[in-house]
Amino acid sequence: MTTFIVLLGPPGVGKGTQAKALSDRTGLAHISSGDLFRENIKNQTDLGKHAQTFMTKGELVPDDVTIAMIRDRLHRADCEAGAVLDGFPRTPAQAEALEVMLREFNGQVDAVPLIAAPQDVLVERLSGRWTCRESGHIFNEKTNPPKEQGKCDFDGSELYQRDDDKAETVKRRIEVYMEQTSPLIAHYRDHGKLIEVDGMQSIEQVTQALMGALKK
Ligand code: AMP
Repeated sequence: MTTFIVLLGPPGVGKGTQAKALSDRTGLAHISSGDLFRENIKNQTDLGKHAQTFMTKGELVPDDVTIAMIRDRLHRADCEAGAVLDGFPRTPAQAEALEVMLREFNGQVDAVPLIAAPQDVLVERLSGRWTCRESGHIFNEKTNPPKEQGKCDFDGSELYQRDDDKAETVKRRIEVYMEQTSPLIAHYRDHGKLIEVDGMQSIEQVTQALMGALKK
């Protein structure tokens, strides 16, 4: 049996943190489209250079490029049992492509948790966010600080602030979410897959709520 979970929610709501927690607890692979793009930027690949021009402005990377990258990732062995998808799909065209790709694995999107929080909270969380260079672990200087400043609790690597976590870019990313990604909420609700979770609870409470909802 394969299980594919799509995590939906605006930038800064905690999708990355929760996707890692769900992946740890379920054993499913964690696929973050943003992490895959950042890895390509770090390695200066053609894909990375192309994606960077959109990412620094807070815009979405074009669908064809994004879909091809995810298709490649889904073919890796660790996805055999399924995956937690974090940041993909982000447009109706990507959602459609995902359905088609998952048929190849005899799979489908099983559940779509939507994590929600008010906009002012998102802006505050993103501006205080620190990300680990090695594997994208996420901290927040106010709500989830690392044990040692500037250093990842999990792998000891350096923490940095993402370029696109700057105030102006954050505003655009939230607008882009409203315009291009939020139509997916109605789509998955109509298919009976949407599970709404309050993102204003503590990290552990959100994880518990997600695990409880997924068991059903
Ligand atoms: P994230 O780490 O999910 O916040 O993504 C960072 C940036 O990567 C986004 O603002 C987009 O520019 C790009 N990106 C990530 N996922 C996608 C996607 N599914 N479609 C298009 N662009 C994406």
